[in-house]
Amino acid sequence: MRVNLQKAIAKLKNGEVVAIPTETVYGLAADATNDDALRQIYAIKQRPMDNPLIVHIGDSSQVTAWAAEFSPTAQKLAAAFWPGPLTLVLPAKNSVSQIVRANQPTVALRVPAHPLALRLLKESGLALAAPSANKFTQLSPTTPAHVTAGLGEDIAVLDGGACEVGIESTIVSVINNANGDHWQLLRQGMISEAAIERIAGKAATALSQPIKAPGQHALHYSPRTPTRLFTNRGALIAQANTHCAALLIGEGAQPNCPVFKLNKNVADVARQLYDTLHKMDALGADLLLIEAPPNAPEWLAILDRLTRAAS
Ligand code: AMP
Ligand code: MG
Repeated sequence: MRVNLQKAIAKLKNGEVVAIPTETVYGLAADATNDDALRQIYAIKQRPMDNPLIVHIGDSSQVTAWAAEFSPTAQKLAAAFWPGPLTLVLPAKNSVSQIVRANQPTVALRVPAHPLALRLLKESGLALAAPSANKFTQLSPTTPAHVTAGLGEDIAVLDGGACEVGIESTIVSVINNANGDHWQLLRQGMISEAAIERIAGKAATALSQPIKAPGQHALHYSPRTPTRLFTNRGALIAQANTHCAALLIGEGAQPNCPVFKLNKNVADVARQLYDTLHKMDALGADLLLIEAPPNAPEWLAILDRLTRAAS
């Protein structure tokens, strides 16, 4: 069911869940201070309760309502990348719901760069927990149609068009200790580790007690159809038959099966990746053959998603 902005705000204030657009993927949103609403997110997604939720806020002035520390490096990263596809994992204030943070000592925060999401956050005055609006381990949704196909017609969806970034946010944790503040990369995304390092002005630290990012399961972002990843086009072609479908990145020889081809451009592949996998999954093929992206740092986030999809 589609809802407009005012209806979405009313539902969220009433403790209901609404699927909302962000620039990364569609999120299944609920008031991040309402434990009953948060429990509905876990129930609808069938997500394990030990997998914490990212809290979406309207701007960085709200960080200190959630985080016990907003250290200089975290402030620099927020100033450089928000609104945008970067999630900061920071020490949580005691007041933060144990449900939203799945009993972790940390809270994950992000300001999304989607005009409708920002209006929703600002006009409602809410902070919204919003994991991807799909069932646990399945493909993330990047359109309202994906949300409805995965969660059913009864889910309220705020339509903000197709997601511009297309894959989940980069996650970075920042903590303080006696030697200053330290950052670590917890999940690859379209904001690269090199870009984080440039803004932080220092490299990631290997901490003796690293911050935990529970819920990074090997099987994730997965089509229902069995899926295999190939680092070599020739090996993919050798495996192909008419009951397969193939996803190719860039030009070259083609296998003997339905082919989905993406330009060899990182941002284009990210934007179209889940929609293409949703389409391939709908074919009823026996096996999806996926060509791995080039082995280069800018492709790491795509490689991470495809490796999990084929896990
Ligand atoms: P997503 O499922 O894309 O919304 O991303 C959620 C992921 O963010 C979780 O699986 C964790 O890896 C990470 N995360 C969220 N909240 C926290 C937290 N409080 N502490 C550490 N990691 C978190
Ligand atoms: Mg997800």
